[in-house]
Amino acid sequence: MSALRLGLLGFPLGHSLSPRLHTAALSAMGLEGEYRLYPVPPLPEGETAWRMLFERLRAGDLHGLNVTIPHKQAVMNELDFCEDEARIIGAVNTLGVDNSGRVWGANTDAPGFLRDLYARLGNVLPLQGGRALVLGAGGAARAVVYALIRAEWEVWVCARRGEQAQMLVESLRASLPYAPLTALEGVPPREALPPRLNLLVNATPLGMAPHSETLPWDEALPIPEGVAVYDLVYNPRETRLLAFARAGGAPAVSGLGMLVEQAALALERWSGQAVPRSAMWQAVAEDSSPQT
Ligand code: NAP
Repeated sequence: MSALRLGLLGFPLGHSLSPRLHTAALSAMGLEGEYRLYPVPPLPEGETAWRMLFERLRAGDLHGLNVTIPHKQAVMNELDFCEDEARIIGAVNTLGVDNSGRVWGANTDAPGFLRDLYARLGNVLPLQGGRALVLGAGGAARAVVYALIRAEWEVWVCARRGEQAQMLVESLRASLPYAPLTALEGVPPREALPPRLNLLVNATPLGMAPHSETLPWDEALPIPEGVAVYDLVYNPRETRLLAFARAGGAPAVSGLGMLVEQAALALERWSGQAVPRSAMWQAVAEDSSPQT
């Protein structure tokens, strides 16, 4: 296989962990390649750089790109082929190109979340048919909610703007009409929490550095008994939500594993080979530098 030219399209990209994850995996796999950052401002400002990247993809000069904020939706307009999962979620985080120069788009956030969820919390969660409360209704929440629904979970989506939660629910229902989904405005008081919850997911940026003092949950409300916590935020590694949950005895994990899994799934698509997660975990272990 010729050297893989890969990278990340987004803005800003200052402290991304992706180059370390991919470079470590490429090396462990014995593959030649590079993974570069392509900071492209939102359109229309980034138009010229954007066009050049897509020309390079179609010409086979670039083999694959990950996509992050603010471009996960906009790239969908450039695709020759969008996978069903990404289309239903409404966001693409992985771009590749086939032998005919056709650019395809996929979403590895959703399967990445689900794999990591079961890898790290599988011992305390039902295999399917669980009940989850998801905080936030942005791009990451859409991937998380989609993944849980496909695993036959019942999901409550809770956002500070009730209409955003409602929009998420309605757009997923357009493709998954019988999905057991409910939109909520704000974190409900204790007596209004959905009963028999198994999982609380934070898909807001609350708790992320440099605002690591923030908490997406009401501190006066203990995490209900039997509920595990998954915080998509991974910077800092121990968020306030994780510390709060663990102090109350709830199993709790950060989104670092989702970051690793979505990267590994993308690299598998580009290389056609199995990706050693251990190399990726090692590359980001014991890291104390700030990331975004
Ligand atoms: P996004 O599209 O901007 O959505 C963020 C959501 O959080 C929106 O519903 C937003 O509501 C809400 N929110 C923001 N600030 C809030 C506040 N102060 N109080 C209450 N709600 C607030 O962002 P995203 O792409 O979904 O990312 C969300 C988080 O997940 C980020 O921290 C990101 O780093 C993390 N993430 C992690 C992974 C991973 O692999 N671990 C992958 C993707 C994302 P408004 O629209 O009202 O602001």
